[in-house]
Amino acid sequence: MSRRISIFGVTGSIGQSTVDLIKRDMQAYDVIALSGGRNISQLARDAIDLKADIAVTAFDDQLDNLRDALAGTGIECAAGTQALLDAADRPTDWCMSAIVGLAGLAPGLRALRHGGTLALANKESLVSAGPLIMAEAAKYGATILPVDSEHSAIFQALIGEPRDAVERVIITASGGAFRDWPLENLKDATLKQASSHPNWDMGQRITIDSASMFNKSMETIEAKEFFDFSPDQIEVLIHPQSMIHAMIGYADGGLMAHVGPADMRHAIGFALHWPERKYLPVERLDFARIGQFEFRDACDHRYPALRLAREVMQAGGLTGAGFTAAKDAALDAFIAGHCGFMDMAGIVEDVLSALSRNNEHNMGDLTLENIRVTDQLAQKFAADVISARIA
Ligand code: NAD
Ligand code: MG
Repeated sequence: MSRRISIFGVTGSIGQSTVDLIKRDMQAYDVIALSGGRNISQLARDAIDLKADIAVTAFDDQLDNLRDALAGTGIECAAGTQALLDAADRPTDWCMSAIVGLAGLAPGLRALRHGGTLALANKESLVSAGPLIMAEAAKYGATILPVDSEHSAIFQALIGEPRDAVERVIITASGGAFRDWPLENLKDATLKQASSHPNWDMGQRITIDSASMFNKSMETIEAKEFFDFSPDQIEVLIHPQSMIHAMIGYADGGLMAHVGPADMRHAIGFALHWPERKYLPVERLDFARIGQFEFRDACDHRYPALRLAREVMQAGGLTGAGFTAAKDAALDAFIAGHCGFMDMAGIVEDVLSALSRNNEHNMGDLTLENIRVTDQLAQKFAADVISARIA
C-alpha cells in the first residue's frame, strides 16, 4: 500500500533532496500536497513529476502563474497562508516540514493532527515553539522525526539505549568558513567570504549561520526541545570533517557516535524509511582515504552565538521566538552591508535584552499567537538596534 505524503517547502534545498528520494521509488508514495514560494516553474514541475493532488504557493500574487503552469494537468492549485494550512489538513502518513522560517510552524502543527509522521527540517519550529509542538505531537499521537544531520545522529545514537543513562550530548560543528581564521580578523570578514562553506553545499543564509555558529546555536536549542536534554548536558565540538554528526556519552563512559556522509539525503532518507533502514544513494565513507578525524574546542569567545543559545535555553518560554527573529534580522543586516560579521551576536543580544524588559512579551504563554507577537516585536527591536548602530 502506498504512503500518503506531503512536502512543505518542496522547492528548497531540503525539499529537492526529498523529491530526489521519492522519485526513485514512485510507486511507494501517493503524493498529496506540495508547497513552494516564488519558484513556480520548479513547484509545477515537481507537482507534475510526483503526480501531486495539489500544489500551493505561499504567495497570493503567484496564483495565476501557478495556474498557468499547471493548466491541463488536473492538479489543483492554491495560494496564500490559509491555503497552506488547508493543504496541511489533507490527511497524510508522512509530511516533510521544510519551509524556511517561522512560516513553517503553523503548517507543521496542522500536519501533526493526522497522527502520522512529521519529518521536521524547519528549525524555527522547535526553537520558537518546542514545548508547543511536542505537546501537539503527543496529543494527536504523531511521531516527529528530526531532519538535520545532528539531530538525526542523536536520534540514531539513542536507539536501544536506556535514556536515564545519558550523561551528555556532543553536537559537532564544521566550524564554517572561518574556522582557521585568527579571531582578530573575524570582524573584517566579508559577505562573500562568509557565504562559502568548506563541507556542505547549502543556501547562503544557512552557510553564513554556519560561519557565525548561529546555525549551531539553533541546533543546541532544538536538541534540548526535541530530546528533553538539560542545557548543561549539551556540548558543541568543532569537527572539521563533518562526518561524526553527534555523539551520546553514557553513564559508563562509553559513547555512541553517528558517522555518516555530509549529505542531507541521509537524514531525510532515515526519516522517510524509519523504523526500517533502506538503501540510500549516498557516498560510502572510505576511512583509509579520510585518514583522520580532528576535533577542536568551540569557545564562546569566538562564537558568542553559542553563549546566547544557552541563555535562551535557560530563559525558555517565548525567548526562542525572539532569538530566531533577532538572528534573522541581524543576518539580513550583515547581508545588506549594515553591520559587520561579529556585530550580529551583539545585535541579537541587544534584542533579547529589549525583549526581557518588555512586559507584553514576558507575560505571554507559548501559543502560536504569542509567538507571532514576539516575532514582530523582536523584528521591531532589531530594526531599532540596527539603525542605532548605523547612525
Ligand atoms: P530553502 O531556502 O532552500 O527553501 C525554503 C523553502 O521554503 C522553499 O520551498 C521556499 O519556497 C519556501 N518558503 C520560503 N518562504 C516561505 C514563506 N514565507 N511561506 C511559505 N514557504 C516559504 O531552505 P532549506 O535550506 O531547504 O531549509 C529549509 C528548512 O530546513 C530551514 O528551516 C532550515 O534551517 C532547515 N534545514 C536545512 C538544512 C540544509 O541542509 N539546507 C539542514 C537542516 C535544516
Ligand atoms: Mg545541521
